[in-house]
Amino acid sequence: VSEHNREEILYKIILVGDSGVGKSSILVRFTDNTFQPHFSPTLGVDFNVKTINSKETGQTIKLQLWDTAGQERFKSITQTFYRGSHGVILVYDVTYPKSFERCKSWVEEINSNTQDGMIIILVGNKSDLSSQRKISTEQGQQLADSLNIKFLETSAKENFGVTQVFDMLVHDIELTMKNS
Ligand code: GDP
Repeated sequence: VSEHNREEILYKIILVGDSGVGKSSILVRFTDNTFQPHFSPTLGVDFNVKTINSKETGQTIKLQLWDTAGQERFKSITQTFYRGSHGVILVYDVTYPKSFERCKSWVEEINSNTQDGMIIILVGNKSDLSSQRKISTEQGQQLADSLNIKFLETSAKENFGVTQVFDMLVHDIELTMKNS
């Protein structure tokens, strides 16, 4: 393989949202296709890498997936976390209204730490917990519309919607790249 053929596409994707909404679980579902019911948050920002193929171009894309790893509990997410990111997954828990209500201020934080036009997808996680659900799909969609961002629901536990989140994000990142 010659030097220039090895040039690779790398997108930095970050997951934000209140503690306990399932950010790590979504990440682990996507990268390892597993689910751990009792997750202990580890401290310090860390990232996973997953390689996918672009549905658009067939090219190999490396996704560098950053998890806050509990830092959000101390309101100490640094600029380093946001720096160079191509897309943001903003997660709330459909059974926990507080995490939903906080999404607006999360978007403000994202916007003040990233360049204009950052791609953000709002994700309502734990959709498997139907009897405990407090935030409807319509409410999620309405919030996303009002913030002008996309919206999907997921269950990291039941493996519902997770791949779609990353597909949608990569698709939108590629669109932005093409038009810039
Ligand atoms: P984080 O703090 O946002 O990274 O959240 P975690 O990934 O650590 O998840 C917090 C808790 O919610 C853990 O006990 C998970 O097992 C649980 N959890 C995460 N995603 C789901 C889901 O889709 N459904 C259900 N029922 N539980 C989930």
